[in-house]
Amino acid sequence: MEINALTGEFARAPNEAAFLAHKQEQTRALLGFTLSFCTVFYLGFFATDLAALGWGPDTMALLAARIGVAVTAGACAWLAYRRRLPVRATRLAASLAEGVALACLMFISVLRPDEFHWHAMSLAIMLVVVYLYIPNRLRYAAGLAVAATLAFVVFAGQYGHMSGADKLTMGMLLVLVNTFGFLAARRFNQVSRAEFRSWSVLKHAAERDHLTGCFNRRYLHEQLMGVPDAGSLTVLLCDIDHFKHINDTHGHGDGDMVLRSFARILQAAIRDGVDSVVRYGGEEFLIVLPGTDLAGGLHLAERLRATFAGAALISQDGATALRATASFGVAAVDRTALASDAPLRRLIAAADALMYQAKRNGRDRIESLQLA
Ligand code: GH3
Ligand code: MG
Ligand code: MG
Repeated sequence: MEINALTGEFARAPNEAAFLAHKQEQTRALLGFTLSFCTVFYLGFFATDLAALGWGPDTMALLAARIGVAVTAGACAWLAYRRRLPVRATRLAASLAEGVALACLMFISVLRPDEFHWHAMSLAIMLVVVYLYIPNRLRYAAGLAVAATLAFVVFAGQYGHMSGADKLTMGMLLVLVNTFGFLAARRFNQVSRAEFRSWSVLKHAAERDHLTGCFNRRYLHEQLMGVPDAGSLTVLLCDIDHFKHINDTHGHGDGDMVLRSFARILQAAIRDGVDSVVRYGGEEFLIVLPGTDLAGGLHLAERLRATFAGAALISQDGATALRATASFGVAAVDRTALASDAPLRRLIAAADALMYQAKRNGRDRIESLQLA
């Protein structure tokens, strides 16, 4: 999970997408909160228009512009808060509110040309907010900030009542705020992604089995035992046949290879993000299939059984093609018709008994049962 040195974002798109999805709730809340604050400030600063210009058409025009900003930012805040906005929409909302607010500052500056020093200060503070507080993609924030800075410098040259030295100082300060705003935002990006990377590594290590990459029993107990209620639920319990013999004749290295191959076959066959493969014991795997009935579970078990039995498993030295089989127990339940509050526990116990029945009945076969 490499981090881009310029932007502080993940270099690879899937990593960045996973990070953004992980943060999205927080991002929406922050966007709603920050834009609400900005809305209040933008309206509150109307007092300064009034103090500078008194009542008149210019003041009314500025009031209209400020209300325009408040409505835009307020609507974006409301959308971010109330609707489950996806990542791109939150960025669009952030950029829109930022763009409108910065444009309005130009308008205020032109109508109050005696106070460009103060407007420059307002711009600097707004840029800090744009770079650091309104959650947005850094390149969008920087694009808006630099465009606003350039426009402001042009307006200051054209309308501002400032000396040459003042203009120079103002220009330097705006370069300073853009530079450090960018660097601080980049550092924040890097730090939050490095933290996410550590979290992902720990999470993976905590819930996966090292050898096969399947979920471990901790994951089963902490995440799967509480699978939600409605619909059918099917579990498969499968165990490699005569695995001890494979270890004894080919060695533990090839035994591990057979385990990994079996796990790969299981994981390739399930629905990503819906079904789960758990390494339940040494050479015993549990597959949890939410929303799948007995027929679906049997169909999958038969496919897995045939694929594994037909696979040539190449030994570590590349010299031999090993053959292995597995036995399966398949148990299903319709949870709408079930009073038990621990359907998964009951299903696993049933599938375990069925798997042993398959062993007794000759191995390389499937036994199944629909629980009442
Ligand atoms: P059955 O057909 O009845 O299932 O017989 P079996 O030999 O497969 O069953 P048994 O439970 O007697 O043997 C399981 C073996 O799996 C014993 C154990 O040493 C081995 N084993 C457990 N975990 C691992 C592992 O991570 N790697 C390797 N190579 N072997 C393992
Ligand atoms: Mg076995
Ligand atoms: Mg076993």
